[in-house]
Amino acid sequence: MLAPFTAGWQSTDLHPLVIERSEGSYVYDINGKKYIDALAGLWCTALGGNEPRLIKAATEQLNKLPFYHSFWNRTTKPSLDLANEILSMFTAREMGKVFFTNSGSEANDSQVKLVWYYNNALGRPNKKKFIARSKSYHGSTLIAASLSGLPALHQKFDLPAPFVLHTDCPHYWRFRLPDETEEEFSTRLANNLENLILKEGPETVAAFIAEPVMGAGGVILPPKTYFDKIQAILKKYDILLIADEVITAFGRLGTMFGCDMYGIKPDLVSIAKALSSAYMPIGAILVSPEITDVIYSQSNKLGSFAHGFTYSGHPVSCAVAIETLKIYNERNIIEHVNKIAPRFQEGIKAFSGSPIVGEIRGLGLILGTEFVDNKSPNDPFPAEWGVGSIFGAECEKRGMLIRVAGDSIMLSPPLIMTPNEVEEIISKFGDALKATEERIAE
Ligand code: PLP
Repeated sequence: MLAPFTAGWQSTDLHPLVIERSEGSYVYDINGKKYIDALAGLWCTALGGNEPRLIKAATEQLNKLPFYHSFWNRTTKPSLDLANEILSMFTAREMGKVFFTNSGSEANDSQVKLVWYYNNALGRPNKKKFIARSKSYHGSTLIAASLSGLPALHQKFDLPAPFVLHTDCPHYWRFRLPDETEEEFSTRLANNLENLILKEGPETVAAFIAEPVMGAGGVILPPKTYFDKIQAILKKYDILLIADEVITAFGRLGTMFGCDMYGIKPDLVSIAKALSSAYMPIGAILVSPEITDVIYSQSNKLGSFAHGFTYSGHPVSCAVAIETLKIYNERNIIEHVNKIAPRFQEGIKAFSGSPIVGEIRGLGLILGTEFVDNKSPNDPFPAEWGVGSIFGAECEKRGMLIRVAGDSIMLSPPLIMTPNEVEEIISKFGDALKATEERIAE
C-alpha cells in the first residue's frame, strides 16, 4: 500500500529506497546499488557526498563548542563569522544583517513576521498582505505553504492563510497567449500584478515573494525582462521584494545568487540548502539596511523582534557553512558550473524532439522537463498513466535519482560534477526516455 505523501513519514511497509552512503556525486542504497544523484539530495548537496573538509569542520566545532544559543545579544564566533561572510558575498545590493533559521521554510516564515514587524514600526499595521506566484514553492510550514502556489499544499489544510494572494506563474511556454512574444507576456503579467495590487489596495500589500527560477514548481525560468517589469510595479506601490534563493543561491544558475542572473534587487533574501551543502541544517534571511535600521531604531518603542529558534545560528551548522563557502571560493565553483553547464544543458535539450516531451528548460545546473501529448501544453497525458513516474522509475532502474512531480521531472545535480558524470546523466536520461516512450506506446 502506498501512502499518498511520504515525505517525513518513516515506515518499512512503504518499501522506501533506503540510501546508506554517499561518495562525490553518487549515493548507494543498502543493497550496494550505486546511483548518480542527479537531484543533489533535494537540490542541496552542492559539494556531493563525503567532502572531508566539511566533516572536519563539523567535528572540530563539536569538540570545541557543540552548542550555544544566539538569544539576548549572546552568540558564537561561527555564527558571527558566517553572517559577515554571507553579507560580503551578496553583491546584488547592500544587505544589512543576517537572521539564522534551520531551514528554508523557517526562513520564509521569518520573513513574514519581520515584514509585519517592520510595517508596525513604520505605523502602517494594515500593510500586511503577501503576493506570491502560482506554482511557486516556499516550504511546508503553515505560512511557507500558504505562500507556495501549489494546490496540493493548500488542499485539506485550510490554506492559504487569508493574507496571502497569488498571481501568475511566469511560464511562457505554458501560459502565453497565441502569438504573444516573451516581452508582451512579461508586460501582461506585470499588468496583472498591478491590477491585483490596485484591487486589494496598495496600502494593504506588504511584500511580493519570488524564486529567481522556480524550482519544485517545475524549473520555470522567467522571461528576460520579467523581473525588471515586476520590480518597477513593486517600487511604484512601496511593496517589498523577497527573493527566495533557497535553491538558486551559491552557484546553481552559474552566478553566485539568482538575483545576479536576473538583475533582482531584493529587500530581503531567503537562503538554505547549499549554504552548508546540506551537511548540517541551516537557513538564513538577509535583511536590507533600510529594514534593519527601522527595526533597530524602533525596537525600544515596539518591544523586541520576539522571534527566534533554539538552533538559530547553531555553531556546528555555521562552522560547516563557513567551510562550504570557503570551498566554493577556493575551487571557483561558479567557473566550474559555467564550464560544465553548457554540455549538461545542450546534452539533455537534444532530447526535446521526443514525441512525449513538451519542453526541456534550464540554466546552469538546473533543468526541468515536461511530458505532454502532441507536444502541446494543452494536451496532458491521462494522469493515471503516470508518465513522469514511469520516467523516474526508468531512471532509478538505470542508477539515477531525479525529482518527479506529476508529468514534470527535474534535475539539479551536485555542482562538483565532472564532465564524465555529466555524460552519464545525459546517457541515462536518453535511455530512460526511450524506455518511457516504448512503455507508453504499449
Ligand atoms: N524555498 C524554496 C525555493 C525551496 O525550494 C524550498 C525547499 O525545497 C524551501 C523554500 C523550503 O526549504 P526547507 O525544505 O529547507 O524548509
